[in-house]
Amino acid sequence: MFAEVIVDVAAYPIDRPFDYAVPEKFQTIIESGSRVKVPFGNRQVLGFVTAIKSETDVPVEKQKPVGELLDIEPVLTQEMLEMTKWLRRHTLCYEIDALQVMLPSALRAKYEKILEIVDHNFELPQSIQAMFQQKDRVELKVDESKELLTTIKKLIKENILALETVVKQKTAVKKVRMILIESDVKKLQEIHLNISNQAKKQKDVVKWMMNYAGTRIVSTDLLKRLNTSNAVLQAVMEKGAATLELEEVYRDPYADRTINVSAKHSLTNEQHLALSEIIFSYDKHEAKTFLLHGITGSGKTEVYLQAIERALHDQKEAIVLVPEISLTPQMTNRFKERFGSLVAVLHSGLSTGEKYDEWRKIKRGEVKVVVGARSAVFAPFQNIGLIILDEEHEGTYKQDDSPRYHARDVAIWRSEYHHCPVILGSATPSLESYARAKKGNYSLLTLTKRPRDQALPEVSVIDMREQLKNGNRSMFSLELAESIRRRLDKQEQMVLFLNRRGHSSFVLCRDCGTVVECPNCDISMTYHRHQERIKCHYCGEESQVPNICPECKSDHIRFFGTGTQKVEEEIARLFPTARVLRMDVDTTRKKGSHEHILKLFGDGKADILLGTQMIAKGLDFPNITLVGVLSADTTLHLADFRAAEKTFQLLTQVSGRAGRHDKEGQVIVQTYTPEHYAIQFAKHHDFVPFYNQEMVNRKQFAYPPYTFVAFIQITHEDVLMTAEYAHKTANWLRENLSNSTEIIGPTASSISRVQNRYRYQCLIKYKKEPTLPEVLQQLTRIYRTDWMKKGILMSIDLNPSSI
Ligand code: ADP
Ligand code: ZN
Ligand code: ZN
Repeated sequence: MFAEVIVDVAAYPIDRPFDYAVPEKFQTIIESGSRVKVPFGNRQVLGFVTAIKSETDVPVEKQKPVGELLDIEPVLTQEMLEMTKWLRRHTLCYEIDALQVMLPSALRAKYEKILEIVDHNFELPQSIQAMFQQKDRVELKVDESKELLTTIKKLIKENILALETVVKQKTAVKKVRMILIESDVKKLQEIHLNISNQAKKQKDVVKWMMNYAGTRIVSTDLLKRLNTSNAVLQAVMEKGAATLELEEVYRDPYADRTINVSAKHSLTNEQHLALSEIIFSYDKHEAKTFLLHGITGSGKTEVYLQAIERALHDQKEAIVLVPEISLTPQMTNRFKERFGSLVAVLHSGLSTGEKYDEWRKIKRGEVKVVVGARSAVFAPFQNIGLIILDEEHEGTYKQDDSPRYHARDVAIWRSEYHHCPVILGSATPSLESYARAKKGNYSLLTLTKRPRDQALPEVSVIDMREQLKNGNRSMFSLELAESIRRRLDKQEQMVLFLNRRGHSSFVLCRDCGTVVECPNCDISMTYHRHQERIKCHYCGEESQVPNICPECKSDHIRFFGTGTQKVEEEIARLFPTARVLRMDVDTTRKKGSHEHILKLFGDGKADILLGTQMIAKGLDFPNITLVGVLSADTTLHLADFRAAEKTFQLLTQVSGRAGRHDKEGQVIVQTYTPEHYAIQFAKHHDFVPFYNQEMVNRKQFAYPPYTFVAFIQITHEDVLMTAEYAHKTANWLRENLSNSTEIIGPTASSISRVQNRYRYQCLIKYKKEPTLPEVLQQLTRIYRTDWMKKGILMSIDLNPSSI
């Protein structure tokens, strides 16, 4: 018997399974989907069994056996194995990457480097002796000093030491010690009598146990309760009064949270209509995709909840995806309040062990609903009734590194496998999804009103050019400053929003608002600090940074960018009494800090929450009456064809944070380009007109959804090599793809060097290119067999979330 195994060897150029002989003892239990330890070269690696077969082409003398079978119950279901094949084709990744992405990190391989003394006659240097401390084998840490590592290397060469890489087997399962009290009271009585009066403590313990015969109790609880020592407990156990048992328990990250039960709302007409369409298709086991377009606060979540309730009623399961930054306690509690302990939550704040526990609950069917970020789309449910992607337009649903999958595509693939509907929900659907809905590929459902008819907040757009003319050089307009002061007086809360890409680098005239754009592409040029030049990332056009504005000739032209810290200082200067909480990548690095900041704000411990992207979503506090956007321009001038779309989405999202409850909300948006359609339509909460306008632009410049794009990046330590292979790539593509397909580039990437590697890129823009998958597969093959050896790294991203 043989097992086909995909081995975990990073970036191994050959992407295929290897056959291993299955030893007798594993033959009845090994299954595809299980993990194994296998020899590979001169080391031991983790592998996944993808098939079992009775024959192999490997000659007898070369056959190696499976070393260890790590799972009796396979960790990968049949569905996942099928999905792997699709994912690999669809994203051009290694099969091992596709397999591993579906599993919690606790189940991925961890390796240990074991250093062993082989020649005991050799007198080892002091430093090495100290390392071994009388032992023959030790784990080699990577952070040893360079000197020591050099010595070790030398000794390995001379066959005095040997280095071996082994799979580290850590049990991720948490166990507690349980005391099982003897159930036979007579026996306990006997033991009690036989204990001498000197051992009073033991006698007391057994006496107590007589009242609890046959019960189980956590060991530490028992010790505390009887105020006795472990030695005493050990002694009575030896006499047979109780036995010890290890019991598997789940880590509960939410142990300290109280969850109330929430009743369901009776639906509005619009909600009811949406729900009935979903249920109708659910009942017919249709793999149908719905786009639920509902304004912020229109009750999309209530529709999800009631659809899920239906699936649960039929013993089916549901997956709910939300962007990582929206996975706030407020958000997840809504699901826990409705479905209690049937809900598992997966997000990056959990420890490896906690994630593994949640994953096992899902796999074992102990929970029925998963709420989680992108990778939760791989939740190992076996009978899915419904998959939901909330905020479906979010770029974070696309994974940036291999496998470069989009959660939406995986969701739709799984819905076809399980014959169940998918709901994509958003107040600002992606252009792609809305276009598909209009074409009838997705089924469009609309919620136009808020359930209790609360008005959407008033949005004022402030023209920052005027501020400058009137002598105000602060990053706060007079209107915003005045509004903040008023809120501080009334002790209401506010949110100030600054784009994450505060350092984003475009060149802007502070007098007329002109942003320097590429003459060929209708996209802003990107400022390259090192060379003091501006470049277009789409066509490669580049020039010097102008010192006067090409429009108005003002010399107030410079690259633009503000950071949260700088804003914080400015707030302290302008509003010395204001209590500020800052939420950005710097203040949220520590686990749980995100949650902590929100809690402080919710408890009224601050007046102003200042932050980046992170605060745009999910916030729902009654006391927020003002939302300020310091500069709408930072997203608007990203060198990305989705810049206007992202700006519209962001402004709509942040506006949705104000006045969600009884107090009326106000939104102030500061910008140098108030007339821009993305800002104007966002001001009026008008998605459809925005969509129509943006589609006209996309059509004119042939961008998605009118075309598809693929992005190829080439990196190398040598700039000439990078350029050479980038050109090779582009030429190869031009030769092999049809004329109607546009190959843009190669150009140097905006960050032209990262970690000492130069970066070049090509963009493929195509309408219909049936051979593209095959052509890219071939390119990948050339790369893996030839270019990789030369130190080139290439990545291909189909439908990238940003460029
Ligand atoms: P969305 O997900 O579209 O942003 P939510 O589901 O968060 O909207 O709903 C906004 C608010 O309206 C929530 O507080 C929710 O409890 C409430 N809500 C939703 N549906 C109804 C309804 N049918 N009747 C009354 N209140 C509702
Ligand atoms: Zn250009
Ligand atoms: Zn100007």
